[in-house]
Amino acid sequence: MEPADLLEQARSRSADPANPLENLAAAIAIGRELGAEADPMLDLALREAREAGISWAAILERLAPAPRSVRRRLLARPFTRRRLANRRRKLETACSFCRRQPGPRVFMVYGEGGRICHHCVALASDIVADLAKRR
Ligand SMILES: [Zn+2]
Repeated sequence: MEPADLLEQARSRSADPANPLENLAAAIAIGRELGAEADPMLDLALREAREAGISWAAILERLAPAPRSVRRRLLARPFTRRRLANRRRKLETACSFCRRQPGPRVFMVYGEGGRICHHCVALASDIVADLAKRR
């Protein structure tokens, strides 16, 4: 069966078909029945949840009651692996204060164990100037 059709099946079993997190839970239930055959559908359900703005933290929390084998399979899916790797990479390059990414219009100052963008440098500079005035 096509992943989209399987996901449709999951939606029909979902406690709330408008909630991608509930659909993911239903997809996991189907995944437990079908095994690896359902993996592309799980990918799709995960992508849908992420595109609906649901955080990884919420997804992982929802996955917690799932059996370890299902959780491991799900977290090993290419979509998840890629996203988690991207997130890790992004956190490694982001401003330590506001999480902005460096770019052509975001200048970053690198220090030992952290980075600060020019927006945060300006903000910190204002804060320090205010504090100095009050003394
Ligand atoms: Zn910043």
